[in-house]
Parts: sequence; structure tokens; C-alpha cells
Amino acid sequence: MACLLSLFLLAVLLLNFGTGTGTGTREARPAFYRNSLNVQTELANLAYMNPSISTHLRSEDGVHHAFRLRATTLEMDPTAPHSSAALICGQHGREAITTELCMFVLRQLLSQRQHLERIRNGSLSVLLLPLANPQGRDSALEVNPCSRTNPRGVDLNRNWPQFFNRPAEEEGETHPGPYPLSESENQFLYSLICHNSSHFGPPDILINVHSGEEAILYAFDGSFVPPQNEARLARIGNALSLRMGCQDCQVGSGVMNFYSAYGTLVDYAHKQLGVELAFTWEIFLNRSAEAANPRDCHHIYNPSSASQLHDVLQRWSDAFESLLALTAQKNK
Ligand SMILES: [Zn+2]
Repeated sequence: MACLLSLFLLAVLLLNFGTGTGTGTREARPAFYRNSLNVQTELANLAYMNPSISTHLRSEDGVHHAFRLRATTLEMDPTAPHSSAALICGQHGREAITTELCMFVLRQLLSQRQHLERIRNGSLSVLLLPLANPQGRDSALEVNPCSRTNPRGVDLNRNWPQFFNRPAEEEGETHPGPYPLSESENQFLYSLICHNSSHFGPPDILINVHSGEEAILYAFDGSFVPPQNEARLARIGNALSLRMGCQDCQVGSGVMNFYSAYGTLVDYAHKQLGVELAFTWEIFLNRSAEAANPRDCHHIYNPSSASQLHDVLQRWSDAFESLLALTAQKNK
């Protein structure tokens, strides 16, 4: 009993240490936001525990960044209807919650029979990229909470070939890089979604997860010309918003709802890869923290309590599963 009590006290002490006020001008982050190494460790463990349905992929530097859910031990029928979805998280370092959403969805999918059946029979594959910018995440968690770019100062969501516009965004935190796909993080993602055969190939659904608003956005970010399937995108976006009970969620094209952004992943996926259901999800904003201190980036972009974090993750994970259900209807 005494031993158990000691363990409990130790846990409380560690918790307090992790959520304390920190030193200097930088406020400490809550302990439930993990650095990229800890996320990679969980990815490796999940791959080890689920060998029959998963393949984890490696980036050029030999680090686990992406996780592919697809049957590897069962023979798949190449003529069977097949759907695929991609969830991309963590492009911007300070939006730590987005990586947690990818990991939450991964755990949900691995624990739910309805999706596992579809993965096992080859009718569904899911690509999760929790760490689209691993060094950017670590920099935001451990050095500068407002860090958005990769270590070379490039905004990974301005570095894609569609509407790439270097002169307009050469300065500041939306620097697009010297040329489209100049960054290794995006080259890795490109290799996953743009090639066929051993790679994932263009998915039916692509979600690029961000925080800093509450919104479900579709193409285009860089052009006022609406996408051809705008009515369907709006219908799906509104249905998801309603399902989540998200009264504050804005639904529409990025450029109409917020501002012009050039070289974004969703514009590239929709226009160049033909991904009909490509969305940017903005999953969280703490408006009162923003009003109190615009430089308090960690608390503006990320929930501060474990219960609020879980609530946000659960709602957006449900939304992703709704989209997977949509693909099941297509295959019938
Ligand atoms: Zn972002």
C-alpha cells in the first residue's frame, strides 16, 4: 500500500512538473503534447502490435513518420472496389494538437471492428502522417512556441506546386521556399500520395489538419474560381459541422473564408491529383488566449487541459470516420 501511495505521489509530482509555469518568458506546455521522438515510438509500437494490417513507412532519414493501414498478409483482390483516405497532420510546428489527432484516429481505427474489416478485406486503406514537420513540432514544444515553419524557415503549406507564388510570400513565416517541393518533408509526402504501385497513390479523400480557427475548408486557397464540385464539398462540410455540433465552424473555400494562400497542399491535391474530397480542417482556436496575448501561441493553437483536448480529438475523429463511411457507400 505504501508503495502504491509513493507511486501515486510521484505521478502527481511529475504531472505538476510537466504543467508548471516554466522559466523565462516561455510558458510551459502541458505534458500531454509529446515530442516527435515519443510519437515515433508509439508509431513503432502500434506497427509491431498490428503486423497483419499495417505497414509503417520510413522517411529518407530512417525515421518513422507515416503509418499506412492496409492488409499486408491477406491477398487483396485487385478488381474489388477500393477506397483510400489520407490524414495529414503537423505541417505547422506550433499546432501541436494536429499530430495528436492523427494518433487518436490511428488508435480509434485499430480498435474498431467495422473499419478493421474493411482494411482486412482490402476495400479500404488509410494513410496517416502524424509528423509532417517533426523538427518544427519539437522546436515549437521546446524552443519557440510560435514556431510554424520547418528548420529552414519554409512554410510547408506554401511549398506545393499549385498556385506557387514566391514573390508574394517571400518574407516571414509563410515563406514558400525557393521552388515548389523544395523541402524534404514535402518530398516525402509527395512520394506517398503521388505515386502508385508500392506507394499509397492519390487518395479519394485527403484531409490536411491545422489549428488556429474552427473551419472546414475546401479548394481553393489560391484562386477565387470555385471548384467544379463545390456544391458537394459544401454539402459534406456542412454535414460534418452539424454532426460535430460546431456552431462556430466556417465552411467554404479557403480564399473566400479567410485569405489568399498560395502553394497549399489541398489546392495541389484537388487540382493536380484529382482528389475530389480534399479539405483543410482547422480544428481549434482559443479566442480568449489570443485576445489576452497574441504571442501565447501554445495556448492559442492548442487546448490547455486534457479533457478539452480529448473533446476536440473525439469530435474531429468522429468527423473523419463519417468520411470513411461515405467511401463505404460508394463501394456498394
Ligand atoms: Zn497551420
